[in-house]
Amino acid sequence: MARRRKPLARSPLLVCVVSLGCPKNLVDTEVMCGTLGTSGFALTNNPAAADIMLVNTCGFIESARDEADDEITVALRWKRKRRGRRVVVTGCLVQRDLPEVRKLYPGVDLLVGLDDVPRIGERLAGLVHGGAESAREEPLAEATYLYDDTTPRLLLTPGHYAYVKIAEGCNHFCRFCTIPLIRGRQRSRTQASIVRECRNLLDQGILELNLVAQDSTRYGSDLGEGTGLAGLLRELDSLEGHFWVRLLYTHPKHLTQEIIDLLATSSHIVPYIDIPLQHISDRVLKGMGRGVGAAQTRRLMDSLRAASDRLAVRTTFLVGYPGETDADFAELLDYVESYRFDRLGVFTYSPEPGTPAAALTEGLVPRDVADTRRRQLLEAQQPISLARNRSLIGTTVTVLADLADEDDQLVGRTYADAPDVDNLVLFTGRDDDLAQGFCEVRITEATPYDLHGVAVC
Ligand code: SF4
Repeated sequence: MARRRKPLARSPLLVCVVSLGCPKNLVDTEVMCGTLGTSGFALTNNPAAADIMLVNTCGFIESARDEADDEITVALRWKRKRRGRRVVVTGCLVQRDLPEVRKLYPGVDLLVGLDDVPRIGERLAGLVHGGAESAREEPLAEATYLYDDTTPRLLLTPGHYAYVKIAEGCNHFCRFCTIPLIRGRQRSRTQASIVRECRNLLDQGILELNLVAQDSTRYGSDLGEGTGLAGLLRELDSLEGHFWVRLLYTHPKHLTQEIIDLLATSSHIVPYIDIPLQHISDRVLKGMGRGVGAAQTRRLMDSLRAASDRLAVRTTFLVGYPGETDADFAELLDYVESYRFDRLGVFTYSPEPGTPAAALTEGLVPRDVADTRRRQLLEAQQPISLARNRSLIGTTVTVLADLADEDDQLVGRTYADAPDVDNLVLFTGRDDDLAQGFCEVRITEATPYDLHGVAVC
């Protein structure tokens, strides 16, 4: 009697993931990758081998939507190359306006909003095995999801650093910003959950914990138990080990002297702050609805300088906001030249549908004028950044090595450099320097945005 052949086990479907946008969106991608792994799917970074292409989008400004459009178009072209392939689009672009995305990309098989991030495995299984999945496409409710330390998560950041989302959403409603409309209201994780996650990450060999939120200074304000950012920072600073904690996305309205002192005096919290000011003209700040004026902003920024001369300050400005005059811009340019920020980013205003500012018709700033103002600010920053970098030549700095480039040169960052946005240190070192993470590097050369050196550890 012929032996019955056991049916061949169907190999898991392969998902290739593209992650766009900010670190908060990257954490969502990591949660989806972690969840897919436990839902019978496997991941690949080889599109040719993939069965499903998942594009996790950003959608908060025009240039981000253009980037999402490019990636979705590439994915749809990929889909047409082999029968049975599927394209799934998730993230802020979908959350912001699902029906519009459906109209724009009829070839996309599934659109998933932010609250389905933890259910991505089920949604894909529903898509693959049929059922009503694709039918469910009405506009999405306000986002409320926020992961915690028990959520499966696959880190996608190189080697030694990770992002930790401490809160989600925003209650500020600055008049130019769509984030509250996309990410929903402020909601914080419990301090215990964040500390547990950080401990787990340190146990996995992570050496830098980057705390992210839409406004990290509002952390805990919705928890009502007197939990706040200072308390969280103190508890993280008490953890054992040699590691960095970095504070990103603060808001000037809620930054306290207590937090500033912690940044200046802690052993693990690096003396670095990312504080988007958006502008310095009182009139423009009022127009933007930032909830903080020029005088308060200047006092706060001076108290950062007074707290420690090692405290590195990163900010971003928005130029071309409706009503911004030559005098407002001159005030901003003068402030950049006098305050001498350590790190600086500049965006040009684009009217975002659904925001109060998009309805403004008076005092509109032509795009070329806005672009010129952006260029002028960046040109003013370059010699400041170069001078700061040159002052480090001949000194030895602690560097966290992130990777080795194609020429086997090591690439890392100082405490004053956040991943992906700030300066780099390019240095020669031994093979195990990368594995080890922290290195002492003697700086031999400086350019406006990078340092060069030799490992001395
Ligand atoms: S604080 Fe930031 S995220 Fe919140 S509305 Fe203002 S610009 Fe947007």
